[in-house]
Amino acid sequence: RSLPVDASEDGGPRAVPGACFCRVRPSPLQNPRLVAMSLPALALLGLEAPAADREAAEAEAALYFSGNRLLAGSEPAAHCYCGHQFGSFAGQLGDGAAMYLGEVLGPRGERWEIQLKGAGLTPFSRQADGRKVLRSSIREFLCSEAMFHLGIPTTRAGTCVTSDSKVVRDIFYDGNPKSERCTVVLRIASTFIRFGSFEIFKPTDEYTGRKGPSVNRNDIRIQMLDYVISTFYPEIQEAYSDNSIQRNAAFFKEITKRTARLVAEWQCVGFCHGVLNTDNMSIVGLTIDYGPFGFMDRYDPEHICNGSDNTGRYAYNKQPEICKWNLGKLAEALVPELPLEISELILEEEYDAEFEKHYLQKMRKKLGLIQLELEEDSKLVSELLETMHLTGGDFTNIFYSLSSFSVDSDASKLEDFLDELTSQCASVEELKVAFKPQMDPRQLSMMLMLAQSNPQLFALIGTKANINKELERIEQFSKLQQLTAADLLSRNKRHWKEWLEKYRVRLQKEIESVSDADAWNTDHVKVMNSNNPKYILRNYIAQNAIEAAENGDFSEVRNVLKLLENPFQEAEDLREVKEDAEEEGATATAAA
Ligand code: AMP
Ligand code: MG
Ligand code: MG
Repeated sequence: RSLPVDASEDGGPRAVPGACFCRVRPSPLQNPRLVAMSLPALALLGLEAPAADREAAEAEAALYFSGNRLLAGSEPAAHCYCGHQFGSFAGQLGDGAAMYLGEVLGPRGERWEIQLKGAGLTPFSRQADGRKVLRSSIREFLCSEAMFHLGIPTTRAGTCVTSDSKVVRDIFYDGNPKSERCTVVLRIASTFIRFGSFEIFKPTDEYTGRKGPSVNRNDIRIQMLDYVISTFYPEIQEAYSDNSIQRNAAFFKEITKRTARLVAEWQCVGFCHGVLNTDNMSIVGLTIDYGPFGFMDRYDPEHICNGSDNTGRYAYNKQPEICKWNLGKLAEALVPELPLEISELILEEEYDAEFEKHYLQKMRKKLGLIQLELEEDSKLVSELLETMHLTGGDFTNIFYSLSSFSVDSDASKLEDFLDELTSQCASVEELKVAFKPQMDPRQLSMMLMLAQSNPQLFALIGTKANINKELERIEQFSKLQQLTAADLLSRNKRHWKEWLEKYRVRLQKEIESVSDADAWNTDHVKVMNSNNPKYILRNYIAQNAIEAAENGDFSEVRNVLKLLENPFQEAEDLREVKEDAEEEGATATAAA
């Protein structure tokens, strides 16, 4: 790709100045065996389901996709990238556990980069061991494929292979160190190049003083940019046929839009990435690096899925602005090939608009609004989310239920429907936790006083917004204090009835605008059912599959994968899938 750097024997962690990649070798694992494979992902590489001897095929897959044996033509390498982690420049990061094996030309001529994640030490492993365990690997494997089948741009996962080699991750587990099985995921993507790949050209960070690997700026950076644009944005390369600022601007505009659409997709399925550092932002707009991610169960705009994200930087409702911030860091890394005045303008003009547009389009589909695009729709969506929040409604299940709401429900049908919606809502106790005040009253009154005397300062650090949120929380919490379960039910029904009335009025407008109401009805349900998943990778589902796998039973992982391959299917189809799974001697209970 560029300057081959260091093929030294010493594959271990070290600073690698002047590099954008480094040759490495996977470290072998003891007794590798296949946990699961994704046939649709492997098909990208031209690999088919084993026809005859499945066991032998699985053993062979385990050998190659653990890194114990190298595929012919592999040239394993680790990529050096940098990144802003939690808002500050972190210097040299790089593939610390992942190894690039090379590219595969797929059956339809497409090129795929393949990687083994967890294959051992690289120069970029820093203090860590280059390994991944069963837990994290199953989560990455399942979620990569789940996202793909939800129609969300993502890196793919072909196999998950575990072994008898062990590493210790949690030294305080049950009072004792817990050793876990080293596990490797085969990752597939058009490219794994990130925003952070361009940040290796930053010699020293002006704020933190932290040094990057100071790669020769002009030479490799221009090559890398040319490579990215000509390979992954060929339409743009063709349109400009040079390496002008205009070409680079067109590229930046496109990655800005793709990123905005990607985040809009995440928001619409309640996906929280958890570690949106610039080194986890794909240069082609894919979801990349599945770590402490989480799909929301109960809707909470401030949901934080990453236990070490103390300030909520990567909370669900922060994702859009954080990804925009990350694009700003990419823009800085592209100077002087793209002057900042130009990229900043692009970011301001394109990002929010593209996000809003895509988000609203997707939400309209989720609500079955297929005919008209009205300005009021945005309010209908935010009121729906507010209702979910107030009642602790399950994000996925509430959307899924909405397709059975009928405009001309009579009183008793409406009552049934309200029962269904409220059964997806949280209990009093759960809501109390959700609305539990976070500041102590003295702290709050101090903040209020200071906010009044120095509003500019407080606007600057966002404290006013925090105070308002806190006041809302206190109000909700005190209302909840008095409620019994029965009160809660009637309160929730009131909230939902109010929103449903607005929804009904909006649906009525759709119907009035079409000539064939029956056809509209069928179509709108179809659109809803293909945009509101029934199955997402909830944490407890992943957890069940992980626990079974840790006890040597991989069937749960395989069953969950099967469900996630058809996230929009209806109950009858599901039963068939379940029967298939049971025929293979498995228990398809996990995702039920
Ligand atoms: P992440 O937070 O997963 O994006 O990772 C941040 C950095 O830590 C990247 O450079 C990773 O390659 C590196 N890293 C993560 N896990 C490991 C590991 N188990 N061994 C070595 N490096 C790792
Ligand atoms: Mg990462
Ligand atoms: Mg990671």
